[in-house]
Amino acid sequence: MMPFAGVATFLRAPHHALSESWQAEVGVLGVPWDGAVGYRPGARFAPQALRLASLRYPLSEQGYYHPLHGCRLQGVRVVDAGDVDTPPMDYETAFARITESARLLRQRVKLPLFLGGDHSITFPLLRAFDDVPDLHVVQIDAHLDFTDERDGVRYSNSSPFRRAVEALPNLTHITTVGLRGVRFDPEAVQAAQARGHTLVFREALREGHSLPLPSGKPVYLSIDADALDPAVLPAVNSPEPDGLSFHEAARVIAETIRQNTLVGVDFVELTPTLDPTQNSALIAVRLLLEVLIARFG
Ligand code: MN
Ligand code: MN
Repeated sequence: MMPFAGVATFLRAPHHALSESWQAEVGVLGVPWDGAVGYRPGARFAPQALRLASLRYPLSEQGYYHPLHGCRLQGVRVVDAGDVDTPPMDYETAFARITESARLLRQRVKLPLFLGGDHSITFPLLRAFDDVPDLHVVQIDAHLDFTDERDGVRYSNSSPFRRAVEALPNLTHITTVGLRGVRFDPEAVQAAQARGHTLVFREALREGHSLPLPSGKPVYLSIDADALDPAVLPAVNSPEPDGLSFHEAARVIAETIRQNTLVGVDFVELTPTLDPTQNSALIAVRLLLEVLIARFG
């Protein structure tokens, strides 16, 4: 079927609700919540935009072949589990439903793939991984997102990882890759360093050094679309210039996945209404294919 036809599910995978009984290798769950954005809203439309763009890459018997790496994405069973029902204006209800849905999805799949939404959703998503000993997070992001509070707000998209380390004793380490810009919260930087987090600034990738990523750990991978350069992927609410190329982001993803046990992935902060060409959603889907190729290829 052509990419402009039919009902849009992610990669044209079958849709089964979380209330149904099923098993798959990959389960896709949309989290259309952008109530925590302090700047330009619209990430709530990302799950639908990603599904629509993903029809360019339908799963098929032939699969996808990466001639450079000699790996093939083929025969992976994916289910699109639809979206979490997140009511606007009520983050406690939204977050409770996000955690509950993520727990249900984890029971059904090897790899849960969450499509945000703004980055605040990573806190309720990580709550669903509170039983994973020695959990490591790799966050690909221009921003640290470790702010304690801003203007009295504690659950914004600037704070998901601060809330997560407070709530989850099993979350032992966070590596943040792609940091840049001037909007750093000094207290957040000090707090992250005091906890021993690994902060990888954008310059470290450009120099081509080996990346200080975890190895042999259970890893939750959180990909903020604004890690990429806004010339590559402009549809984000807080763009920062001088970002990662697609190749650099794909390298971080591949190395993270190949040397660890991937327990979950989220992709957040895509704000499709900010890109009238709709290319950002297409690029984002390609990046998510890199995740699947690294894990299953
Ligand atoms: Mn960011
Ligand atoms: Mn972020």
